[in-house]
Amino acid sequence: MTTTMRRGEMAADRRSKPQRSRQGVVILPLLFVLLVVTCASQSQHTLLPVAEAAEARGEGGSGFAGVAAAAAQEEEEEREAAIERFRKYLSIHTEQPKPNYEEAAAFLFAQAEEIGLKAQRIDLVPGKPVILMTWQGKDTQLPSILLNSHVDVVPVENDKWFHDPFAAVRTAEGNVYARGAQDMKSVGMQYLEAIRVLRGKGSGKEAGEAGTGAGFEPLRTVHLSFVPDEEIGGHDGMEKLVKWEGFDSLGVGFALDEGLPSEGSDYKVFNAERGGFWVMITAKGKPGHGSMMYDGSATENLIRSLNAILEFRRSQFELVKSGKAELGEVISANVDFLRAGKEGPQGPVINVQPSEAVAGIDFRLPPTADVEAFRRRVEVEWAPEHRNMSFAVAQGVVRGKGGKPLITAVDDSNPYWDVFRKAVEKSGVPLSKPGIFVASTDARYLRAAGVPTLGFTPIRNTPVLLHAHNEILRRGCAVLSISISISISSFAIPPS
Ligand SMILES: [Zn+2]
Repeated sequence: MTTTMRRGEMAADRRSKPQRSRQGVVILPLLFVLLVVTCASQSQHTLLPVAEAAEARGEGGSGFAGVAAAAAQEEEEEREAAIERFRKYLSIHTEQPKPNYEEAAAFLFAQAEEIGLKAQRIDLVPGKPVILMTWQGKDTQLPSILLNSHVDVVPVENDKWFHDPFAAVRTAEGNVYARGAQDMKSVGMQYLEAIRVLRGKGSGKEAGEAGTGAGFEPLRTVHLSFVPDEEIGGHDGMEKLVKWEGFDSLGVGFALDEGLPSEGSDYKVFNAERGGFWVMITAKGKPGHGSMMYDGSATENLIRSLNAILEFRRSQFELVKSGKAELGEVISANVDFLRAGKEGPQGPVINVQPSEAVAGIDFRLPPTADVEAFRRRVEVEWAPEHRNMSFAVAQGVVRGKGGKPLITAVDDSNPYWDVFRKAVEKSGVPLSKPGIFVASTDARYLRAAGVPTLGFTPIRNTPVLLHAHNEILRRGCAVLSISISISISSFAIPPS
């Protein structure tokens, strides 16, 4: 039986009701190409020498070998062009706190035009555009697919890098060093390159030619969002985009956002994430001479609470160290900010007990944690009023309607999951058990808006260097050759 989801049924779709196999036909080929492009971006530059290239073009050779060589040459040139486009995107200074969103927007518009995608700029906040591209599907009544990536990157400490982090240096081994190489300009470019291949815009082949995927028309509409400010909480980016007046009319039924690279040979996928619960605790106390001893000073008060928090941290960390839980499944706690005392002309003033001491603690709560109970714990145990303490929540946890945990189903109830899993399986690369992303991404806003979302960064055999020095995209997954995989992907394209 074939059923078709219409707009009116979208709500049901978002709740991941079992659906028919037809749903798979859009994202299956797309995912294949996403996987393929990752590998292509990591492969070494192996352009044919001039003589061979001439032969490949038929100037010095003839027959089948000449045609095959020409095709190989063309493919290699296209691979090169893709890597150069990627490097160009990486070289745009979109690091916080002053990302050059205008240059990135111009680059993205140029990409959309080359590929033939409709693009629009949505200025939800002045100077922070969202670039939304749309590839219209054959059936515009079906829920669409959203491929999201953020344009901004975290700042760099230039002197700690082997290469200029915005030069996107490509080494002889084919490695690309750049801020954003993993997080997450690579993913944004993979979406674009995959669609470029599927539309036949890069291969130089006629659209619709068999075996290349060129000329493929998706059944569902595919949207690509390039959003600002993810690295500073997404408040002026995805948080506003899902509330934008036009968002509902996009009819998004499923989304892909960022995940993490894998250090092993598998791909990692995430269906939920921990929520950041950032707390500032303030302790007040009687100021006094540094030689005196009395109870309840501000620093004593604060340190007493911090000791208790560190003990809680130890108990959670023990679960991870002993293998009883993954990091994403426990509450992490880190004291990342401390302030007390005064700085004098000669340096820190040691002989005065300060009247106030402040600590900032980064707690991360798993999706099923009881946020209200945890808030009470902070209030009663770690910032009790009777000890002259108070606290403020600098960032709360995003939950769904009625406080529901934001978890995307990864079972038969979610037809998109099944399609996703099979697509990865077919690529021959094992997929990890779906995990809880340890930090926050824009996916939380999508899930809160009712969109099933998976976090997926198809990079493997690579050290995880998000936010670290020498962020790199390695040529680790060159095992899948672009030509073979695109052929395979074309098998998934249904007859029209
Ligand atoms: Zn990111």
